[in-house]
Amino acid sequence: MTSPLPLEPTDVALSDRVTLLAGEARGKYPDGNTVLVAGSEGVVLIDPSLTVHRRGGGPCAVDRILVSHAHEDHMSGISAVIRRSNTTGSVSGALSDGTTIHAHDDDLHCVRDIDELLTSYDMGERETEEWGATLVADFHLDGWPQAEGFADGDVFDLGDIGVTVMHLPGHTRGHSAFLIEPGGVAFVGDVDLSSFGPYYGDHWSELDDFVASIARVRELDMHQYVTFHHKGVIQGRVEFIRQLDAFASVIDRRDERLLTLLETPKTRDELAAAGIIYRPGALPPGWGISVERRSIDMHLARLIRNGLAIEHEGRFSTT
Ligand SMILES: [Zn+2]
Repeated sequence: MTSPLPLEPTDVALSDRVTLLAGEARGKYPDGNTVLVAGSEGVVLIDPSLTVHRRGGGPCAVDRILVSHAHEDHMSGISAVIRRSNTTGSVSGALSDGTTIHAHDDDLHCVRDIDELLTSYDMGERETEEWGATLVADFHLDGWPQAEGFADGDVFDLGDIGVTVMHLPGHTRGHSAFLIEPGGVAFVGDVDLSSFGPYYGDHWSELDDFVASIARVRELDMHQYVTFHHKGVIQGRVEFIRQLDAFASVIDRRDERLLTLLETPKTRDELAAAGIIYRPGALPPGWGISVERRSIDMHLARLIRNGLAIEHEGRFSTT
């Protein structure tokens, strides 16, 4: 695959093999930034976004779609990519059995089945029904039972370039980054370096795993880092670490806020009403409160484990 790809003005060539298909508004949710890797023996598209859906699929036929994790915004373009690939045929000729879909083993059931995905959000009954309709109507999800699993360290060999899976759980259990070599490009998914900070508010999330994943990704030494949202492309490890440390520090600020709240004993309900994740007055209606509750529970568990908080007759306080 050496011929230039037909690109949109918003696309950014990260190298002669790797292209960023930038989402609207710098990939602000619900959009996001997709990465195309075109090797000598295959084409991979990572996290097809709503923008990819709007442009009718990838800029060329795609052999494999890699999904960093099973969230709606990272899968919105899958159907369009498959449709376009089926009509244009394989660019590389390496694969003849159509576009395949791949996600980490721990998230795979949520890619295969929308009902499983809905369960992972752990919403109330009414919210689940409404959200299920939104996933189909606005995010173009379908449930892809043919999707295949991958694990940490798996390599997708595209001839003169390869994509290696790096499991970074926490945001979801299967959340993974992709390391594209040669060239030194890391796609870090929803380790998105946003000022909001790490998101671990779903049933399928875990604070401790997110903390460990930040430590692991901090060891990476790549030329370019790509986030799905907001930041887009970050040049070099020094700048990546600066932004990663700022992102991680939000977790400490949430701890500090919680410890301040715990100076007088409070119930879980009182803590959730006060909030540590969303700014006062900014709690998303419907599901926001359950995100606060789950996140606070995980922070409380850590503070208790570290001897900084105690529980007594249903109330939590500092020690
Ligand atoms: Zn996500």
